[in-house]
Amino acid sequence: MLMTPQQYEESLRQLNLVVYMFGKRLDNVVDNDIIRPSLNAVAKTYEMAQRPEFEDIMTATSHLSGEKINRFTHIHQNTGDLVKKTKMGRLLGAHTGCCFQRCVGMDALNALSIVTYDIDQAKGTSYSSRFLKYLSYVQEKDLVCDGAMTDPKGDRSLPPHRQADADMYLHIVDETADGIIVSGAKAHQTGAVNSHEIIVMPTIAMRENDKNYAVSFALPSDAQGIIYIMGRQSCDTRKCENSKIDVGNLKYGGHEALVIFDNVLVPWDRVFMCREYEFAGALVEKFSSYHRQSYACKVGVGDVLIGAAQTIAEYNGAQKASHIRDKIIEMNHLNETLYCGSIACAAEGQAEPSGTYCVDTLLANISKQNVTRFPYEIARIAQDIAGGLMVTLPSEADFNAPETGKWLEKYLRGTPEISTQNRMRMLRLIENLTLGTAAVGYLTESMHGAGSPQAQRIMISRQVDLGKKQQYAKNLCGIQDEEN
Ligand code: SF4
Ligand code: FE
Repeated sequence: MLMTPQQYEESLRQLNLVVYMFGKRLDNVVDNDIIRPSLNAVAKTYEMAQRPEFEDIMTATSHLSGEKINRFTHIHQNTGDLVKKTKMGRLLGAHTGCCFQRCVGMDALNALSIVTYDIDQAKGTSYSSRFLKYLSYVQEKDLVCDGAMTDPKGDRSLPPHRQADADMYLHIVDETADGIIVSGAKAHQTGAVNSHEIIVMPTIAMRENDKNYAVSFALPSDAQGIIYIMGRQSCDTRKCENSKIDVGNLKYGGHEALVIFDNVLVPWDRVFMCREYEFAGALVEKFSSYHRQSYACKVGVGDVLIGAAQTIAEYNGAQKASHIRDKIIEMNHLNETLYCGSIACAAEGQAEPSGTYCVDTLLANISKQNVTRFPYEIARIAQDIAGGLMVTLPSEADFNAPETGKWLEKYLRGTPEISTQNRMRMLRLIENLTLGTAAVGYLTESMHGAGSPQAQRIMISRQVDLGKKQQYAKNLCGIQDEEN
């Protein structure tokens, strides 16, 4: 079944989430001014799947049921699926100009489809059939899953079991006939309160002493004992001003939340890893690789920013200047380089023993490492082209006030054929993408999301075959390895 955006919104109204923001519990999450744009962005993943022109990218055929499903719930069956996943990320980034949140769940589902199978093969467990049953449920209902990996981590120099506070990493505190009881938290959870389900995974590789921390499971997002505390974003309260201009992006945004698990019961049929510490690292690596590919979303947001930079150059009458043209070329060069990386790791994907296709790990990490840098440079150039007015522009209310509006109309006009208001709108959009609420997704999330830059550098050093490269060099200049 494919849900419509309206059905998705209605389904969220049925949830009984415990959400706090600005020190108060929210009784209505769906219509909250600050959260609503993020709901709109997730709803776009449903809307686009209904449109025939995007059907090939936005939908897939379930390998379980043979039914048409949203690609966000699909398990990749070949490299073509992986390439379409990259294209879907770019498409949605361009249509929303923000983080549309649904990729983390898709990446968690795919990683679990691989690792549950591998655990079963090694240990004779039955996680895979449990997981596939859960997957059928998610596909059939067309649900949004929050993929929850990042623990608070406390003292970074200590493993989970040596932390002063055991809850610094989410862990199993008890076990009953009904299931496991877990305690801890997951930080920076993208789209958490727009999700029907939370899929929890460990955040690092584990040793035997940490086995109670080697746990993966899924819960309904409103399960008893789960608490959400919303993160702030720069300029967030502009969304409460009923502004049509100052928000920059009129409809879409993202959100993150701290998600607390206060002694929560997880029924056995939703437990996908329970103390198999040897597989915690593999689950982290698979999820991270998939999610590093997912950052094709930033290419779509980059498309928006490049379009905005070209447009404001035209509004300023500067578009013909050779340095402006060159800067636009540079932005495109950087943005398409990001796209190349995401497409490449997809095209070079391989089948895992479970049959799921996984991206090429090295190329996924290279691609994400570029994402930690290039959006910052693209944003820098966009700000260069936009000019300082982007940050000194008076408010929409000043434009509407009779005493000040006439002066602002007169003095803040660019080329005469473009209205001052349209110039303002474009500047506010660039501000939103590079400094405001969307900069959380486009910049800082590009840096730290799916692992910070150092995490990718460690993976790059592990994946490259340095010895082979040395051998190539030695062969060409006639060096034969000396025995000692
Ligand atoms: Fe998806 Fe990008 Fe948001 Fe991650 S940052 S959830 S990849 S849109
Ligand atoms: Fe992310």
